[in-house]
Amino acid sequence: MHREFICIVCPNSCHISVEYEGTNIKDIKGDQCPKGRDYVKNEITNPLRVFTGSVLVENGDFPLVSVKTSSPIPKQYLKKVGEITRQMKVEAPVELGQIVARNLLNKKIDLIATRKIKKINKKNSLLS
Ligand code: SF4
Repeated sequence: MHREFICIVCPNSCHISVEYEGTNIKDIKGDQCPKGRDYVKNEITNPLRVFTGSVLVENGDFPLVSVKTSSPIPKQYLKKVGEITRQMKVEAPVELGQIVARNLLNKKIDLIATRKIKKINKKNSLLS
């Protein structure tokens, strides 16, 4: 089988051309360093991505908090994690790096906040 990849490991974005059978790479061209071959191997066997999204916040100074998975997850779970985050709400305050959800899909997938959200009271004054 033949496939073309663009390596996303570094800004060089090498165009890599691969011939493979199953998980066995028979020929590879365009990889400018060993990380490119590792990237292609992972893409063929178990592609991983960091999920990024946002979650609704209640009583915060901003209505959404941006989140990401604490580590790359199998690509096949990205859509389901996105569906879950669209139904979630968290209560302010939210700290940068705070875990806002744990063990999603029972796959040890945690979501962490990538920004801080302050709590507001009903008179719209900031509390923290
Ligand atoms: S193959 Fe190496 S140099 Fe090319 S984009 Fe991937 S990591 Fe960067």
